[in-house]
Amino acid sequence: MSAIDELVAEFARLPGIGRKTAQRLTYFLLKQPGESTARLSRAVAALSERVRACSRCGNLTEADPCAICTDPRRDPSVVCVVEEASDVLAVERAGEFRGHYHVLGGRLSPLDGIGPDALHLTALLARMGPGSLVREVIVATNPSVEGEATAHFLERLLRPTGAAVTRLARGLPVGGELEYADSVTIAQALQARRTMGDA
Ligand SMILES: [Zn+2]
Repeated sequence: MSAIDELVAEFARLPGIGRKTAQRLTYFLLKQPGESTARLSRAVAALSERVRACSRCGNLTEADPCAICTDPRRDPSVVCVVEEASDVLAVERAGEFRGHYHVLGGRLSPLDGIGPDALHLTALLARMGPGSLVREVIVATNPSVEGEATAHFLERLLRPTGAAVTRLARGLPVGGELEYADSVTIAQALQARRTMGDA
């Protein structure tokens, strides 16, 4: 495969990038000075070299534990559970939440063969064990069918720990994704969160 074809194929694998856009990006890079493309390839390489998952919460970080887990101004008694590390960014952007996070690394999706074993649940339960400071778990999985199923699974799983399990209020677009929700909507959904398991 030629260098051009190879890069086009790599770009085309990215979310939201079709074959045409992949070609446009590749030809754009061909016209750039060598130093500019070298900078891009260094930045891409640095991702896998320097970024890893926080051993405590699963958030993406260069320092382990991450800056959120080690921030003394944050409240360790509230943990916000999200599907992906990109959702941490979305909730942080809303500026409403001052607790800790737990990244599941996905959501339950039986049709895709994604069961509880595929999610970082052992680490979550470990954080909720004896002597845990966690008093509330806010389930902030996406308002999709899979996200809701995951939320209910978590509620049943965490019930024995005695911590309150709450869910973001409705208002987030159903079937939408947290990552793309605006900050005001996320802040409101956090403020109006409701306890799960009462119904
Ligand atoms: Zn962390």
